[in-house]
Amino acid sequence: MTKPHVTASHHSSQMFERIALIGVGLIGSSISHACRRAGLAGEIVGSARTPATVETAVKLGLISQGYVTAAEAAEGADLVILCTPVGLCGPIAKEIAHSLKPGAILTDVGSVKTAIVNDVAPHVPEGVHFVPGHPIAGTEQSGPEAGFAELFDGRWCILTPTPNTDGKAVEKLTAFWEALGSKVEIMTPEHHDLVLAITSHVPHLIAYNIVNTAANLERVTDSEVIKFSAGGFRDFTRIAASDPTMWRDVFLNNKDAVLDMLGRFTEDLTALQRAIRFGEGDTLFDMFSNARAIRRGIVQAGQDTAAPDFGRTPARSEPATAKSKRA
Ligand code: NAP
Repeated sequence: MTKPHVTASHHSSQMFERIALIGVGLIGSSISHACRRAGLAGEIVGSARTPATVETAVKLGLISQGYVTAAEAAEGADLVILCTPVGLCGPIAKEIAHSLKPGAILTDVGSVKTAIVNDVAPHVPEGVHFVPGHPIAGTEQSGPEAGFAELFDGRWCILTPTPNTDGKAVEKLTAFWEALGSKVEIMTPEHHDLVLAITSHVPHLIAYNIVNTAANLERVTDSEVIKFSAGGFRDFTRIAASDPTMWRDVFLNNKDAVLDMLGRFTEDLTALQRAIRFGEGDTLFDMFSNARAIRRGIVQAGQDTAAPDFGRTPARSEPATAKSKRA
């Protein structure tokens, strides 16, 4: 049923007897694929908001058992991973608190950390280890069919434990993410939120904004925007196709860091605007040269491909590949 994977670097060793995925969308389903690739779990169970998603997840073999409530799914699990939009982590932690097994690790994959720590930590019972996390990997797709085992390969996963978090639990979760293919870095939730505001959140806001600006232009038709999109616009539309619920929650929950970074961004944009107005070619050239060097750094760090057009062809075949794996 499943296409054979390259497994050389993934040892087949069970780390958890029962893993519960609360939410089985892009990230939850990718965790399941990568987990099964490396043989990390005795069983993977899960829940979602709608019965349709639970049904699909079971049908795809992402979870062996689907539950209507998060509390039932979390019952008896050694590792519980919250894979829902950020705003739901607090309410779900409250709901599952009494079902959590003593000694279990509770983690999440939310794109914001400070708000999640504030919302989740108060509900975590004594003896359960809460280790917040965020895999820096994703696509603009969502839902249980969007996931694939390679999503985390070579990407970073940030963990934001507090100084009081049990060291063994942090070590175990680190080993888990490494077995999923990731590299792991540990930092404070506040620092995470600042870094991600500029590397992820503000770029998404800019993409959403530019797409809407183009859509609202009176002097350029919609069909022209689409027809000539390869000039640059198209690459913003990929980012702007991301899940609206997820991104609404990111901005509601990382307000301060995003506003801070947007302030800096606006100042720099104004400087560019000024350079254009006054014909300062050297300023423009220097700023563009710096930016190009950053791009080279990303490629050298193995965080993207140098293929022309962002290696667009393989990227586009991802959903089809995911489907054919299940065929
Ligand atoms: P997604 O594909 O939209 O999946 C979200 C999942 O959460 C769905 O299975 C949904 O179930 C479920 N859900 C919603 N409300 C729920 C509830 N009350 N109880 C249980 N399950 C519920 O989203 P995603 O992209 O996987 O994102 C999940 C999390 O990962 C978010 O916190 C996001 O910030 C983070 N993240 C995302 C990316 C990315 O690029 N997408 C990258 C890193 C981290 P239904 O299908 O039934 O609605």
